[in-house]
Amino acid sequence: MFLPQVVKSARVMKKAVAYLLPFMEAEKAASGAADRPRGKILLATVKGDVHDIGKNIVGVVLGCNNYQIIDLGVMVPCEKILETARHEGVNIIGLSGLITPSLDEMVHVAREMERQGFEVPLLIGGATTSAKHTAVKIAPGYQQSTVHVADASRSVGVVEQLLNPKSREAFDARNRKLHEQLKTSYQSRQEVSLVSYAQACERRPQIDWAAARIDRPSFTGRRELDHFPLAELREYVDWSPFFLTWELRGKYPGIFNDVQFGTEARRLFDDANRLLDQIVEQKLLRARAVYGFWPAVADGDDVVLYADESLGQEVARFYFLRQQWQRRGQDVFYSLADFIAPRASGRVDYLGAFAVTSGVGIDELVARFERDHDDYNSIMAKALADRLAEAFAEALHKRARVDWGFGQGEHLTNEQLIDEAYRGIRPAPGYPACPDHTEKRTLFQLLDAERATGMRLTETFAMTPAASVSGFYFGSPEARYFAVDRITREQVESYATRKQTSVADVEKWLAPNLGYEA
Ligand code: SAH
Repeated sequence: MFLPQVVKSARVMKKAVAYLLPFMEAEKAASGAADRPRGKILLATVKGDVHDIGKNIVGVVLGCNNYQIIDLGVMVPCEKILETARHEGVNIIGLSGLITPSLDEMVHVAREMERQGFEVPLLIGGATTSAKHTAVKIAPGYQQSTVHVADASRSVGVVEQLLNPKSREAFDARNRKLHEQLKTSYQSRQEVSLVSYAQACERRPQIDWAAARIDRPSFTGRRELDHFPLAELREYVDWSPFFLTWELRGKYPGIFNDVQFGTEARRLFDDANRLLDQIVEQKLLRARAVYGFWPAVADGDDVVLYADESLGQEVARFYFLRQQWQRRGQDVFYSLADFIAPRASGRVDYLGAFAVTSGVGIDELVARFERDHDDYNSIMAKALADRLAEAFAEALHKRARVDWGFGQGEHLTNEQLIDEAYRGIRPAPGYPACPDHTEKRTLFQLLDAERATGMRLTETFAMTPAASVSGFYFGSPEARYFAVDRITREQVESYATRKQTSVADVEKWLAPNLGYEA
């Protein structure tokens, strides 16, 4: 069975059980018999993180297999997870998260489980989690089985093997062996050569700023958009990641011809579009955004934004990181600051910024489905809201290129937009070219994003509603995406000084990027 079918079957069962439950309770009371789930499993999205589509799917899949699920929801503090686990006597704890700071929180929960003498297996899942991170950072903190679960359909096999006394030991041994291998490969990767920060700065990409074309946007400052037409956003949806959410791997629209799951993909797509019709017609979601452009120059690896072209009044400063990892065949080391004219060039450049959400109203929509025991549509609604947010980012980026002038003659199909065939990029804080999530604080202030859109940042800089995107616009034809990856302590120190914070603070937020043991 494919995942969408499993979730739909679960819906049938859940609705039937909801109907039968009062009778079953009465019978149980009369006969004294108790139903026996195969085990109790606690699921939670960790503190600071708000993403729960994957966790909810895992809950449904395990629930179908007669495990009792205690789902604590999102942004769950460690203490609540462990207290509930103890109080309920759960057999397994599963942690989920999407953004990189959640990785650290999972390390913390694992250590707390060790400290408090827990003996139940710990499962790790979510977009930025990996078998390697689990092996290197999480498992060493907890002596019991700690297992990375790559996707929802694998969760049943893992749980079955862990809870069955006959298979548990062998499974655990295999998992530990895998962890040893992953730790060794991590070690060898850590030993890759990093050039010094000074050298990396020297070998920045060379752009002839005297000759470079710099376009002036038709306005500077910020603009707000509210009730953006959902029907228009729909045209910009990139469907391939939607299928991936449902564990159907393939590129849209070719996926419909897949011999194995083409039919199921079509069914899922039709279901999605029926719900999307309702969302659009009944305005069940509200799309809000704010974006803008500011005169800017690069100052080392910082980009400084000004109120106007006289560069008299500084309004914000973004701190970027630079690559230091000497990849084979690469002799330049990128920072996003390279794509903005340096102050010394004497020219005035521009940096854009944006924040979009299409998640206003999603809680009400989801609550409606949940009251109706309809996990399928509840998960579907969240997945669609996410798609609309990405579509909004795409649509607004297109508008921004028009505002910027250079996008006026652009005629690209949605496929070409998805392939980023346009000029410029829109890197998002927390992603590989600018992995520091804390820069969202400045971004939100600059845009006045909270007031303009209702979006908020959690303590680890996840955005709420979850269906939100924010980032920068770089207009240079030279601008490209890259991964900062590992950096040295030297760069961390420089970065901490520039940001006027401590090395320890930078090391905390950039834990996945440290090329050394902090
Ligand atoms: N069409 C996709 C778009 C999202 S993925 C969808 O609907 O899901 C691509 C986005 O991720 C980019 O627009 C950018 O915002 C971000 N991104 C990708 N690679 C990045 C990198 N190396 N650094 C920073 N941001 C990146």
